[in-house]
Amino acid sequence: MSFNLSSRLAERRAAHLYRQRPLLQTPQGVEVLVDGERLLSFCSNDYLGLANDPRVNDAFVEGVQRWGTGGGASHLVTGHSSAHHALEEALAEFTGRPRALLLSSGYMANMGAVTALVGQGDTVLQDRLNHASLLDAGLLAGARFSRYLHNDADSLRGRLGKAQGNTLVVTDGVFSMDGDLADLPAVCAAAGSAGAWVMVDDAHGFGCLGGQGGGIVEHYGLSMEQVPVLVGTLGKAFGTAGAFVAGSEELIETLIQFARPYIYTTSQPPAVAHATLTSLRLLREERWRREHLAALIRRFRTGVDALGLELMDSPTPIQPIVVGSSERALALSAALRQRGILVTAIRPPTVPKGTARLRVTLSAIHTEQQVDRLLEALAQAQQELIHE
Ligand code: PMP
Repeated sequence: MSFNLSSRLAERRAAHLYRQRPLLQTPQGVEVLVDGERLLSFCSNDYLGLANDPRVNDAFVEGVQRWGTGGGASHLVTGHSSAHHALEEALAEFTGRPRALLLSSGYMANMGAVTALVGQGDTVLQDRLNHASLLDAGLLAGARFSRYLHNDADSLRGRLGKAQGNTLVVTDGVFSMDGDLADLPAVCAAAGSAGAWVMVDDAHGFGCLGGQGGGIVEHYGLSMEQVPVLVGTLGKAFGTAGAFVAGSEELIETLIQFARPYIYTTSQPPAVAHATLTSLRLLREERWRREHLAALIRRFRTGVDALGLELMDSPTPIQPIVVGSSERALALSAALRQRGILVTAIRPPTVPKGTARLRVTLSAIHTEQQVDRLLEALAQAQQELIHE
């Protein structure tokens, strides 16, 4: 067989890089049933605990009653319903920008925005730890593509000096596998003085950062002039699904005209958009969620520090513990699972070689006692691995 899939799969297994899908048998949450086991989960992106909130669920059901199930067509044909439109208006108001455009996923939003803005003869510069969807978008755009050192404005400036055509500087707001924040003031200053545009994918910042949950631009107080292209995803802190790009009237019209992942796909089910209106309201109003999350983050970091484990410099609910080899990350994850705790091992190529990690994520619906259970299990698992 010319494709020889079996040897590719065997190689992946031998390198401890084989992926398996845990089967979730309950709604998303902190106490879940996975593969028949009751586990305390620390690895969803449901940072505010809205994915199974009864008010969001009710809004979803109400949305189905009003708009049915399927979008039925792409936005430019007859799939753009008043539920989608109302959410776009609310997201524009939330981000303080003239307009927002709703897309079916963050992956598609990133693909759509980058490929609509730059092409042959242009340049796209990306942080080397950007999310795969941004890197893939950069490759697809056909522009000159270069990655600067992580969060390093000098490295970015060096590349800006050699850029040609329209230049788009693209960064995660909160780095998805590390939890650290982009140094956006420095990135924006470097880009601004070179006449480049900045695009921020704040998938993990919206809802968590900023007093109103407005994400990294609210956190740093940055304007639309500094960050003309702002992407948010709705499957994480918002607890639903989809994504948006927020910006100027001209930017959104450009995406409607030229962003192929927007144009050539069925609109998301309108009921999802309707439910997201409720999660947006809760995300803004229920500040206790951000406050509780911040307390959990402090508690977890203090506890891990006392265990002598290496934490990354993260002020966000993403709190990875870097262990190095994929084998060790898998062993630590398995040892936690034996103790009733679910934390997945993240391995290359998702993260650079030699930096496999346990990506612990906290949610506003975790309790302090649950965080203590995780810390206790980590201490025991670590001892077990040392003595193996
Ligand atoms: N951007 C970042 C930084 C992400 O972490 C993710 C998803 N993990 C995405 C984009 C893709 O978003 P979606 O899941 O909505 O496709």
